[in-house]
Amino acid sequence: MSIRQTAAVVGLAIGVTACGSAAPEAPLSTVVAFEGATLITGDGGPPLGGGVFLVDDGVITDVGLAANVAIPEGATVVDLTGKTVMPTLVDLHGHVGFVDDLSFDNANYTRENIADQLNRYAYHGVGVIVSLGTDPGDIAFTIKADQEAGRLGGARLHTAFRGIARPDAGPGAPTMRPTAFGATTVEEAVALVDEIAATDADFLKIWVDARGGSVEKLGPDLYRPIIEAAHAHDVRVIAHIFDAEDARELVDAGVDGFAHLARDVEMDDELVAAIVEHDVFVMPNLAVSERGRHAEPPAWVDDPLLAESVSPEVIARIRESYANRTPEAAAAGAESFAMMLRSLKKLSDAGARLVFGADTGIQDHIQGYMEHHELELIVESGISPARAIQIATSTSAELLGVNTGLLAPGKRADFIVLDANPMYGIGNTRQISAVYLGGEAVDREGLRAGW
Ligand SMILES: [Zn+2]
Repeated sequence: MSIRQTAAVVGLAIGVTACGSAAPEAPLSTVVAFEGATLITGDGGPPLGGGVFLVDDGVITDVGLAANVAIPEGATVVDLTGKTVMPTLVDLHGHVGFVDDLSFDNANYTRENIADQLNRYAYHGVGVIVSLGTDPGDIAFTIKADQEAGRLGGARLHTAFRGIARPDAGPGAPTMRPTAFGATTVEEAVALVDEIAATDADFLKIWVDARGGSVEKLGPDLYRPIIEAAHAHDVRVIAHIFDAEDARELVDAGVDGFAHLARDVEMDDELVAAIVEHDVFVMPNLAVSERGRHAEPPAWVDDPLLAESVSPEVIARIRESYANRTPEAAAAGAESFAMMLRSLKKLSDAGARLVFGADTGIQDHIQGYMEHHELELIVESGISPARAIQIATSTSAELLGVNTGLLAPGKRADFIVLDANPMYGIGNTRQISAVYLGGEAVDREGLRAGW
């Protein structure tokens, strides 16, 4: 890419000086014009070839075909000919603070580690990450406030604070489990909702999963009053689910969203229709489940992009995790995953509100990187690349209520510059040339050197 200044104002400035005016040199425009790229705006429509967009003070001010966008005099022009630009990703399901290289432990939950992880997300073009229900204390809130005030960079952190489950029955990973609040009575549950609603939490998370019979599942006796109390506070409830039967009952109870697809059976037409009718949003969350279908390490383990932020030891451990799989186990995993893809396509065809969640930040589920794999898997279900990108950008941003995820006037200038067009292969979202957040280029080289 090349950068130049438009000639008009340079000439003007010289003119002013030459005639001896006492007026200070006319300031150059603060506008930056990005021209020549194919633009995927994030609205699900066809890409715009040879588009131009203007950024001023971190905000997009105009987008369109070159002929329709007037570049102001004195603007800085960035030539992106041959590149493709799309909005940064908005991931509504991650977990910050637990991973530190090979270690996966709640002792890693520090401001410093989370700030590093937010840089990892940003490096890969994730502009917003919601930490879903596993943030003890106030560190996540402090970071969110500092980012809003411009005191801290990286992907913007949002948080569901601590979610609610039966005691010791929340997240699957033992080291994350104590972050969930435990409730046994309606009174306790409602008091916890009040406590969560008094914070700056973006959602309230509940876990409705018996973990294969190993823990007591949160039942309707508690989640119905939880949902009711949350709605009285205008807080939306996202349920982690496993069984389709629970999904059905949760829709009936007024839940706002699901953090997973059903994983026991294919979601039937009746359940899909209920989800659409009640406008329950769904994060497919495919990438974790997809691991089960491989008896050998999948191709992405060798992706150079993975090695840019992840140590060889972690990559070796990921590779190792596929070593002792029997072909029978992989076949069963493939069948179960194919079922999830069918559920997803059904939901999509029926017009369900699909949003993006990749569940990154659990062990060996790499923050920033696996979001791109999640996109590939959404497309594998039969959803088009344009719609998959829309789900992962504007639809998720709108649901969260953040002013990003779309190349449109008034939106924050959060975008990825790609060397290849994902319309011709969704894997091309990993061909990252640059990432901009709030109109500023993320220092990817500097971050890479630090890792
Ligand atoms: Zn999760």
